[in-house]
Amino acid sequence: MFGNLDTVPELLKNYQYKTGEKHKFLGDYYRLLVSESPTTGVMINNNSMVLNVQDTQSIQHKEFVLDMWYREQAREVFVEAMATAIVKAAPYQVSFPDLKIYRLDNRWGSCSPKSQKVILNLELIKTPKECIEYIALHEMLHFRFPNHNLSFYGALSTLMSDWKEREDMLNRKYRLT
Ligand SMILES: [Zn+2]
Repeated sequence: MFGNLDTVPELLKNYQYKTGEKHKFLGDYYRLLVSESPTTGVMINNNSMVLNVQDTQSIQHKEFVLDMWYREQAREVFVEAMATAIVKAAPYQVSFPDLKIYRLDNRWGSCSPKSQKVILNLELIKTPKECIEYIALHEMLHFRFPNHNLSFYGALSTLMSDWKEREDMLNRKYRLT
């Protein structure tokens, strides 16, 4: 059953936000448990993702509450991954950029050296931390090496020898579309 879910690209899934549905967080699947509550939010409890909502029938409301939670989690996890990347990339003297988190449908991240901005795809919060750390480092290195040339890949391989496995995992298990 989990194997089947893996083959459906995340952004093409037609989530209904019903109890029993599987949702991803940091590379693991959780069983959604929709619960009626005056206060909205999400709690992880063992293998369950408890979705507390005021209106258990409204797909839009449930989607919104879960989305807000993913955004909060992403902010925390991505900032940490960026900080780790900056430490790793210390020889290249990169500094903390203006970090934006958006839902992108065809890429995991982007870097704009001119405006000192890095965009990370919100969907990364559904993938393992190793993958998030790889994308963070990849984008940070673009401040020093704007293009995917040999120098870029040389630096990447020096700082993260298993980057290719992390990239393959993203493309194989967490396809966007
Ligand atoms: Zn790149």
